[in-house]
Amino acid sequence: MAKLRFDALDHILNRTYTVNPPSTERISDYYGSSVFHDKAMQQHLPSNVYKRLKECIVTGQQLERRLADEVAAGMKSWALSKEATHYTHWFQPLTGRTAEKHDAFFTPTEIGVAIESFGGDQLVQQEPDASSFPNGGIRNTFEARGYTAWDPSSPAFLIDGTLCIPTIFVAYTGEALDYKAPLIKALQSLNDAAVPVAQYFDRNVTKIIATLGWEQEYFLVDAALFSARPDLVLTGRTLFGHSSSKGQQLDDHYFGSIPERATAFMKDFENEAHRLGIPVKTRHNEVAPNQFECAPIFEEANLAVDHNQLVMDVMEKVAHRHHFRVLLHEKPYAGINGSGKHNNWSLSTDTGVNLLSPGKTPKTNLRFLTFFVNTIKAVHDYPDLLRASIASASNDHRLGANEAPPAIISIFIGSQLTQVLEDLEKKVKDNGMSANEKTELKLNIGKIPEILLDNTDRNRTSPFAFTGNKFELRAVGSTANCASPMIVMNAIMAKQLRIFHKEVEAIIKKGSKKDEAILTVLRKYIIESKNILFEGNGYGDAWVKEAEKRGLKNIKTTPHALGAYLDDKVVALFEELGVLSRPELEARNEINHENYKMKIQIESRVTGDLINNHILPAAFEYQGKLIDTVRNLKEIYGGKEFEALAKPHMVIIREISERTLNLQNFVKDMIEERKKANAIEHAEEASKMYCEKVFPYLEKVRYEADKLELLVADELWPLPKYRELLFTR
Ligand code: ADP
Ligand code: MG
Repeated sequence: MAKLRFDALDHILNRTYTVNPPSTERISDYYGSSVFHDKAMQQHLPSNVYKRLKECIVTGQQLERRLADEVAAGMKSWALSKEATHYTHWFQPLTGRTAEKHDAFFTPTEIGVAIESFGGDQLVQQEPDASSFPNGGIRNTFEARGYTAWDPSSPAFLIDGTLCIPTIFVAYTGEALDYKAPLIKALQSLNDAAVPVAQYFDRNVTKIIATLGWEQEYFLVDAALFSARPDLVLTGRTLFGHSSSKGQQLDDHYFGSIPERATAFMKDFENEAHRLGIPVKTRHNEVAPNQFECAPIFEEANLAVDHNQLVMDVMEKVAHRHHFRVLLHEKPYAGINGSGKHNNWSLSTDTGVNLLSPGKTPKTNLRFLTFFVNTIKAVHDYPDLLRASIASASNDHRLGANEAPPAIISIFIGSQLTQVLEDLEKKVKDNGMSANEKTELKLNIGKIPEILLDNTDRNRTSPFAFTGNKFELRAVGSTANCASPMIVMNAIMAKQLRIFHKEVEAIIKKGSKKDEAILTVLRKYIIESKNILFEGNGYGDAWVKEAEKRGLKNIKTTPHALGAYLDDKVVALFEELGVLSRPELEARNEINHENYKMKIQIESRVTGDLINNHILPAAFEYQGKLIDTVRNLKEIYGGKEFEALAKPHMVIIREISERTLNLQNFVKDMIEERKKANAIEHAEEASKMYCEKVFPYLEKVRYEADKLELLVADELWPLPKYRELLFTR
């Protein structure tokens, strides 16, 4: 009965591992060796082409078509020198992961003769057969075909002999079908809005980039055990499993020494990541057993997004070699911590300044305050949109539950900065300040770096926390494409900075000095966005009540969060910035709802199958054994003595009958609800039905099944148990 489970355990015990000898290479020797980076470009491109390409990358201008042929030739010569045979356009469709279709370089010229060819046409644009990517009706409405177009700002790279060219993916009529296209537009509009504001403080600033440093959490599980869990294989999470007697309660995993097998895996995937120019730097154990984290040094946001997408692929690939599977799901196991992907976000200038880092002078600190307060105002004005940008069926297990961080969007800034904002609110006078008042204010602003230096405040329960020189969006799910929240963060910031600049200019026009005008507007923002600042415990019930009083929303599930994308205010924001049009937003909305529905539908099907094919048979088998024993007892003893002796068996026989009957009924009812939901055409209504009517059955079924797991003899239980999944090293 439980053959697969015990075979898996046997297999693990008898497996031999070969540990690679420590590498003698230095990371700096091979870092970026699989990337067509600056040095490779210089080597393989004519100098005029190289110069123009660099210029296009910096300014976002389009490269002339005739030069594309030369870039393609250079890329090809570099790729062939590294033994590449194929090339692909690499893109990020709305499925959430990456897509690629490989073509060989070789082209036959006559019978038996071939050359390696790759021209500007192949570099610049491709037409993948895209009909099976999610498009939310866009292609039905507008145009049947989509194409991918080269993004020169993210360098091409090599994986397993294939030259991968980062691209955007759009419909023929121009609508974006991916994450990258709107992200690039959001970053461009952020730059346009932020430069004039940064120039208030330094005339030399001509470009501003958003920076992103992600922290990827994940679980490792042995491949053999994984294969014996159809729920993990098909849904990425365990739909069943009673909690292990020992879980994370001893806190002995966090920052503990990393198990040797896990270290070997990490070294291996970091090695590949480094070759791909992904600056992964930090690795450590996370809170839950067999949970880990990997984090790079931050990079320009578009590149960082690509690198995170790549890292997830690389991790999965390398894990196979180590007989592991990587679980990127936000909640692979009930009852212990889930996984997130903190997005550390800041803005930086081409003069080398981090705009969210306090400076050394009152002037640079005013600059810091400007970008700091504007970020708070931006999030204050669009909390539902930010919430929607991180919504997914799998992330609901974190945000909707009593787990880090809550679904209520609030901002943590620490007590010192709270004090600074309170001071500003009190001391800035709208109707002009005296010379003394101004000097005092300047002095206070000048003190910010000192107070921040000993800023030891850390609030792990906040979804959006200021951490000294950047904001950390902690609510992003571990499977997410960071582009989704990054599109929103950068778009709302762009919009906010546009408004800020306008307001400051208006006051200056009326005769105020620049600094005073800036302070006046900042003070107004501080007052207006106060209610989103929260320093306390984000997990507590008290916060839920307090947030409600403040009018902050607590949207626990994805189908109810997604609507924010179609709020009039949000559509206006995206259209004004040229990031996404209404039809694009509508299409995305449909895709998101459809995605949610499918995820729950699959989980519900797997639940039904596992009950019928795994759990009920195990329960009945055990019950049958007990019934046989009862029969034997009766034969041997009979009468009063039998009744006493058979009591313990009868208790279990009865409980198994009760629970298995419940299971059968729940599964039947769940299928009925599914049928009803499936009959609904409208994507949003259908996903809400799945959320409200189908999903609760997953929990009900699980409860009964987990009770059975405790009841049924271990040797008969078919699914690897939590203690095996979590503690096998
Ligand atoms: P933590 O205590 O949260 O682990 P770290 O200082 O280790 O803090 O940083 C976590 C992440 O934040 C890293 O990926 C790091 O590169 C990133 N980070 C640091 N500075 C910035 C910045 N200016 N912009 C974006 N990300 C940043
Ligand atoms: Mg962090």
